[in-house]
Amino acid sequence: MVMRLIFFFISLSCLVGVIHASAGDSDPRYKDCVEECKITGCRFSSDGVSVDGSWYMQEPLYLQWKQWDCQSDCRYHCMLKTEKDREILGTGPVKYHGKWPFKRVFGIQEPFSVAFSALNLAVQFHGWLSFFILLYYKLPLRPQNRKPYYEYTGLWHIYGLLAMNSWFWSAVFHSRDVDFTEKLDYSSAAALLGYSLIVAIMRTFSVRDEAARVMVAAPLIAFVTTHILYLNFYKLDYGLNMKVCVAMGIAQLLLWAIWAGVTHHPSKWKLWTVVVGTGLAMLLEIYDFPPYGGYLDAHALWHATTIPLTFLWWSFIKEDAEFRTSNSMKKVK
Ligand SMILES: [Zn+2]
Repeated sequence: MVMRLIFFFISLSCLVGVIHASAGDSDPRYKDCVEECKITGCRFSSDGVSVDGSWYMQEPLYLQWKQWDCQSDCRYHCMLKTEKDREILGTGPVKYHGKWPFKRVFGIQEPFSVAFSALNLAVQFHGWLSFFILLYYKLPLRPQNRKPYYEYTGLWHIYGLLAMNSWFWSAVFHSRDVDFTEKLDYSSAAALLGYSLIVAIMRTFSVRDEAARVMVAAPLIAFVTTHILYLNFYKLDYGLNMKVCVAMGIAQLLLWAIWAGVTHHPSKWKLWTVVVGTGLAMLLEIYDFPPYGGYLDAHALWHATTIPLTFLWWSFIKEDAEFRTSNSMKKVK
């Protein structure tokens, strides 16, 4: 197992190495094209804009925006041009600035990833809503305080909110990749992964005591917060972020897998399916392939696989709530 993990991290760091090298943007044809485009194609940002009146104050910002737009448009058109040349020569696609050459659809950079992120968001919302209805309207509530019997209710509510937040920013980021959308996507994903690791520990070890919960959560929250601050305000280190996220992901998959192996939980087969399915889906992130037809790449497929897995995951959570509630009711009687 340790050997396999080491192998996994080695192949991961190789992948990161490939990302940083980006063969496409060092291609002289591409470089020349971008240089030329900057001179001939960006004229709109420097001519004929009125500078008097109340618009004066907004002028620099407006120009900046246009300038940025011009650079990204130049890069895009030069990438398509270079890719066409490569195709004629019979060479396969390469990455540009760390990204595969995607074709835009209505100005959206990666339409498939956006669509799948939106579907993930919808499935998360449906799961969370049905969980809410189950707990507060279908299952019995404690007569003393009208609160659910299920001890993990609050934890799953926060999980649902963090998951929806993270899919929202994923959809935004894949629509248009700029510095702040990228940071929000990465930060939300790290927060969700860190938090779901906390929930995994709480549930698999049945941590129900308030003090014990604080002891488990505090160091992990401190670690994830530091990691997110580091990414946003010090250095957006893709390699490091990938390692941290994979480590947190593998840790919780192992916890759930071991727990599913020893528990007599009635829905453990659902847990197994989600664990094995997520493990297999993660391979898509590692064996990255270029977008099929310029649209469908490994990352988009990875976002597609989490849609049915999320559906199954919330169904496990709901059955866990029913199971725990009926156990508590038996004890009360
Ligand atoms: Zn993504």
